[in-house]
Amino acid sequence: MTKRPKYIASCSGGKDSIATLLLAAQHDEPLDEVVFSEVMFDSGTSGEVPEHRDFIYDKLKPFCENKLGVKFTVLRAKKTYDDVFHHIIVRGPHMGEKRGFVWGGMCAVNRDCKIPPIRKYNASLSSDTISYVGIAADEPDRLARLDKTKQVSLLAKYDFTEADAFKLCAEHDLLSPIYTHCCRNGCWFCPNASNAELRHIVVNHPELFNRLIEWEQEENVFHRRLTRKETPSEIKMRLSGASQAGISHSITSI
Ligand code: SF4
Repeated sequence: MTKRPKYIASCSGGKDSIATLLLAAQHDEPLDEVVFSEVMFDSGTSGEVPEHRDFIYDKLKPFCENKLGVKFTVLRAKKTYDDVFHHIIVRGPHMGEKRGFVWGGMCAVNRDCKIPPIRKYNASLSSDTISYVGIAADEPDRLARLDKTKQVSLLAKYDFTEADAFKLCAEHDLLSPIYTHCCRNGCWFCPNASNAELRHIVVNHPELFNRLIEWEQEENVFHRRLTRKETPSEIKMRLSGASQAGISHSITSI
């Protein structure tokens, strides 16, 4: 008997990747392992938004292991955001300075913390492994870029749009709490974060946001802006006075 290939699902904990797991279970599609890549802020602090991190470990991981009966693997890079921020620039006019916050659009956290463990993990897989990717039926450009020899979108196969994926996760009580304040999941210190995401951290997790302000105030830092325009202390000043009403309608107003 020929051995079937291994089937893995990369899962960020977002609606599309979780809907993929649910579709695999509903349609009896093969699934052997779920893989989640966690960026770390420092060695003891996750880079995931705290509520999302708790959702991953307290709900998604047990669901995969106990309900789906599949292995749940967490990947982490050796490097953390702490390492990226405090990297000493070795050439050019800013030689000797700490790099500081990353730039949106060319995120060094993605390059140094998110991608390396995924590359290493993928290299350990046999060449016939099939990966399920959470790309919805209404994302034609992304679907067109799939390597169809080793990547499969179950959302496209079963004609599930992003809205369908959201609904499916909600029906199974498997929607990350981040969707109450924003529509994407990223690191809590992301330079591309919307006002709603930044406000969530400033207001609900000040102990985390204050870590960024401490870094901003260190000496010899090259890039002190967290986002394209503002430093963490400027963001905090602008958003910490925001009303609770502003928070509740932040998804539509940003
Ligand atoms: S979510 Fe933002 S900070 Fe995190 S890896 Fe992606 S671009 Fe970088």
